[in-house]
Amino acid sequence: MDAVYLHGPGDLRVDTVEQHDVATGTIAVDIEYTGICGSDLHEYEVGPVPIRAEATGHSIPESEWDEYLPKPMGHEIAGTVSDVGENVDDVQVGDRVTLNMVSSCHNCRYCAAGKYHLCERGDGGVVSSRGFADRIVVPSSMAVHVPDEVSLRHAALAEPLGVSLRGVRRSGLDPTDRIAVFGAGPIGLGVVAGAAAAGAREIYVSEPRATRREAAKALGADVVIDPTAVDAVEKIQRETDRVDVSFECAGTATTLTDALRSTAYGETVVVLSVFEEEVPIHPNDIMQAEREIVGSFGFQGGPLVSQSEFATALDLIADGRIDPEPMITETVSLDAVESAFESLRDPETDQIKVLAEP
Ligand SMILES: [Zn+2]
Ligand SMILES: [Zn+2]
Repeated sequence: MDAVYLHGPGDLRVDTVEQHDVATGTIAVDIEYTGICGSDLHEYEVGPVPIRAEATGHSIPESEWDEYLPKPMGHEIAGTVSDVGENVDDVQVGDRVTLNMVSSCHNCRYCAAGKYHLCERGDGGVVSSRGFADRIVVPSSMAVHVPDEVSLRHAALAEPLGVSLRGVRRSGLDPTDRIAVFGAGPIGLGVVAGAAAAGAREIYVSEPRATRREAAKALGADVVIDPTAVDAVEKIQRETDRVDVSFECAGTATTLTDALRSTAYGETVVVLSVFEEEVPIHPNDIMQAEREIVGSFGFQGGPLVSQSEFATALDLIADGRIDPEPMITETVSLDAVESAFESLRDPETDQIKVLAEP
């Protein structure tokens, strides 16, 4: 079958590979949709990125890439179960599923505490998962059933929405809070939708691209700002006396500082972005204002997935509190995945979430 692999920075190919057979405890899923994730784009740009590779801060040294390349791509997967191995009782052929790809060792201190997404030896979901392909074989424990009300097209967004919902959860948001979201890519838009579902009092969004500002409005933003035309920090300070929570969802030095300075003293900035490099901030923006910076990574997974932000995303779509449709701008064949990556990397792009449809 065909499957999309990363061979190096900027080098994505459709390779012909063997299909895997199901083994004990695994299932085969015929893939209907796989979303292109921001983390896929980062890897496409800079090479394989195990997110917490402490040695280098952000990426594997080029000398070690051979170990990781070619790397299969695609982890935001929805499809139908087409085969089950021995000892699988909770999943049947024909079930509609999406996949929780958080991998964990079940041995480290984080797994012992149920924080599987922080597993020392896992990678928080950015696993070598072969999702841009016709079919994938995974442990049955990764399957999350898709409610009848949710299309597989929308189920493919459960993974990024789970990431966004975790950020909202980490923020401690309550209905009296005004919030600001910096960056309206899929994660920022999911934060908007999640914060709206959580009853945020007022939602500001700063985003340079018009299509993304429109999507933010459709998902629940009250005020959208084009930071190339207006000073977002000044406007937010003037209109809200600074927000109660801000969310950094763009991964740049500017948006991180803007998020800090838009946030009221003593309040919280949640960082959800993958940064491609170190960025400077002024520590006095934290110290003098007693602001807190909170990290948010992936979503609870492993055996806890049914209670996690991932499953919550499916429930919120099922009951209509989140409609992810405004985030989906295109569906493409496997052959067009690389050009979709290229267009998503273009700072002027009108694309938001592109789904591959193998
Ligand atoms: Zn993702
Ligand atoms: Zn672990």
